[in-house]
Amino acid sequence: MRRFSARLWGLLAGLLFALALAACLLLWNAPGGEWVAVERDGKELFRFRPADIEGAQTFDVPCDGGYNTIAVENGEVRVAAADCPDQTCVKMGALRSRALPIVCLPHHLTIRFVDGAEDGGLDAVAR
Ligand SMILES: [Zn+2]
Repeated sequence: MRRFSARLWGLLAGLLFALALAACLLLWNAPGGEWVAVERDGKELFRFRPADIEGAQTFDVPCDGGYNTIAVENGEVRVAAADCPDQTCVKMGALRSRALPIVCLPHHLTIRFVDGAEDGGLDAVAR
């Protein structure tokens, strides 16, 4: 009996581990959303739909004593330039997954995929 339960627990632990791994993989490979939000300190500055932007466009997001230049090209969003000291946001390249937003720590800036109308607040009502 004791041996059986030990095996059962082992099996359960293995199953849980496999599930957790699968969840991680799913999250990591989560496709991007339609909308991209630009946030500072958790507050949304604006959002846009990369698919709506034709050709290549860049726009500057100013902040206290600095800026981030966001580039959109072929539906891809990335930080093309910034004057932050670590340049991590620039090195991160294009935004690809919901699980991995582009973050500029020195500028408190986050660029991430969001669900368009669902968490759009007033915007959603206006639609
Ligand atoms: Zn940065």
